[in-house]
Amino acid sequence: MEVIADPIAMQRRAEAARRWGDRIALVPTMGFLHEGHLTLMREGRARASMLVASIFVNPTQFGPNEDLAHYPRDLSGDLAKLREVPVDVVFTPDREAIYTPGAQTWVEVTELTRGLCGAHRPGHFRGVTTIVAKLFNLVKPHFAIFGEKDFQQLRAIQRMVIDLNFDLEIVPMPIVREKDGLAMSSRNAYLSPDERRDALALSRALFAARDHYVAGMRDAETLRKTALKVIAETPKVELEYLEAVDADTLEWPARADRPILLAVAARVGTTRLIDNIVLGVRRP
Ligand code: AMP
Repeated sequence: MEVIADPIAMQRRAEAARRWGDRIALVPTMGFLHEGHLTLMREGRARASMLVASIFVNPTQFGPNEDLAHYPRDLSGDLAKLREVPVDVVFTPDREAIYTPGAQTWVEVTELTRGLCGAHRPGHFRGVTTIVAKLFNLVKPHFAIFGEKDFQQLRAIQRMVIDLNFDLEIVPMPIVREKDGLAMSSRNAYLSPDERRDALALSRALFAARDHYVAGMRDAETLRKTALKVIAETPKVELEYLEAVDADTLEWPARADRPILLAVAARVGTTRLIDNIVLGVRRP
């Protein structure tokens, strides 16, 4: 497994691989890898002859009062997991090499990023789409794999790829959960045992709405209220938002005849967690 830190070296390596006829898959991450990340890696492995994982805690997607300085890191543990997949190239650039002095260009997806997390994390998605566009130019992938855990991020990136004519395929992957339902996340490492138990309210709420949907309920607001009721049973979960929106446009109201995205963000202690579920026919 090669580990490359220099962006120019990464670009040259990708160019050489393309000349050889390799098909490149990229899985962008911020590290502290868990089974959710590794499922994306295995999908990339199955699709491509060269699998690249990037590990970069991207400063431009963190707000001034967010957890950039404390974001969990374990490079040697991550490398051991990536070797197991196996991954061909790990791209681990330094902050300074990615954001060179004088940088002033941003990529912004306007409508899809207005609501949900975009309303609560100003500048977050602009940081995400900018770093992902840069990674696409550095790694030159044919496929890029993203998790539905970050559903709004996935939709914004899909839009960016269409709007800016990136010549690659975005591959979405379902959320990987712990046995008890908690969506896997690097940030789960912040949770105390009590908080870990309280955090289950998020998935429990989404599953209650899913059960209601399966039983025939199609009214988005009623489904939202079903989930809200479950969250309210755990007072230590401080809700940021719980919304039912159209799973394609992310707009409210969701129509009964189209897939509904039920998305939640909440704080448990100081940890911000997100989760979601799509109700109705899945459209990637
Ligand atoms: P992150 O390291 O949190 O930036 O995540 C990197 C990629 O892994 C993103 O595409 C995430 O959506 C995806 N991911 C994170 N957690 C999960 C999960 N539990 N299930 C599926 N994909 C995930």
